[in-house]
Amino acid sequence: MNLTTKILIGLALGIIAGLELGAEGVAFAKTWIGPLGTIFMNMIKMVIVPLVFSSLVVGVCNLGDIKKVGRIGMKTVAYYLGTTAFAIIIGLGFGTLFQPGVGMTMPGAGVKVAAKAAPSIMKVIVGIFPTNPLDAMLKANMLQIIVFALFVGVGIVAVEEKGEYLKRTIDGLAEVCYKIVGMIMTVAPIGVFGLITPVVAANGPAVLLPLLKVVLAVYLACIVHAVVVYGAMLKIIGGCDVIKFFKEVSPASLMAFSSCSSAGTLPVTMACAKKLGISKDVYSFVLPLGATINMDGTAAYQGVCALFIAQLYGIDLSAAQYGTIIVTGTLASIGTAGVPGAGFIMLTMILTALGLPLEGSALIAGIDRILDMPRTSVNITGDATVAYLVGKSEAARQEA
Ligand code: ASP
Repeated sequence: MNLTTKILIGLALGIIAGLELGAEGVAFAKTWIGPLGTIFMNMIKMVIVPLVFSSLVVGVCNLGDIKKVGRIGMKTVAYYLGTTAFAIIIGLGFGTLFQPGVGMTMPGAGVKVAAKAAPSIMKVIVGIFPTNPLDAMLKANMLQIIVFALFVGVGIVAVEEKGEYLKRTIDGLAEVCYKIVGMIMTVAPIGVFGLITPVVAANGPAVLLPLLKVVLAVYLACIVHAVVVYGAMLKIIGGCDVIKFFKEVSPASLMAFSSCSSAGTLPVTMACAKKLGISKDVYSFVLPLGATINMDGTAAYQGVCALFIAQLYGIDLSAAQYGTIIVTGTLASIGTAGVPGAGFIMLTMILTALGLPLEGSALIAGIDRILDMPRTSVNITGDATVAYLVGKSEAARQEA
């Protein structure tokens, strides 16, 4: 039996156990079953920093020159922004089609939700440059780690033979990290079971049914984005066997679904990219960047939820406001951290930009974890798709 099947069984058993336990069993599920998932995620997270750092340094060394890094960087960011804008449009489409907020009343009025202010763009740019690389690693600040690793890689290339030893050592570290991920993944089915059971127990039919339309709209927007947009890109631009691609990426997609963390899933996404034959030089750069700035599932969710809240309050949005959703949504998804629930916080930023009542998001808050699962899964599938396409185009360049 392959790993994906085993993880799927873990997921199915988790759903059954969660439904069985129900609302009365939430405390039991959280106390006794949840820790299995937490231990699993902790182990995976343990390798993130050394893996991202080491594989990126080696990637840059192999690329050999900074121009190539720049070219890959530009392509990657262009793909990331383009697919994210597309995802919001799909989210808006499903929000319009399903009209999830029409006819609903707003219970829990008066709940105070604090808005997240948009950080200034200069502050974001300054924040990418670390003053202390060890501090960046301690805090697992992905963008700062990326910048430091780029410098180390370029430095190693610049000092030529003198850097050989360091490069080989760092390469060894990367290989060891991959091995560790492989070992941890053997217990992934148990980990997934532990992650999913308490979530299903806490979000039974009684919680979900009143908001079924939002849930359906978000799930369908995510599925359509993954299948249609990624499928078409992989087939047309990458000439790829799409079914095989989704199969190879499925351990990462399922893990993202259960853990709701792109950053936490990163080591597994990297291992899948390796199996897909994407060049290490490419995926070691494209994937950590994607886990931090590329959030297509989150963007689709934000499109649906913004419309849901507007409908809830009977507010008609103008064409300009739709434009605002697309632009702020794309920016918000870049600023969303790859951790559970981050997308919900960014939703408040979009609502503020639109002048919509923040209280509306209180309804979403109750079921956010259920909406986080498909969106995180799409987030990492998008990262892998872009890694595949950038890898393909770099390979084609080399052949030419
Ligand atoms: N949980 C998502 C992720 O890690 C972010 C979000 O909340 O939308 O990709």
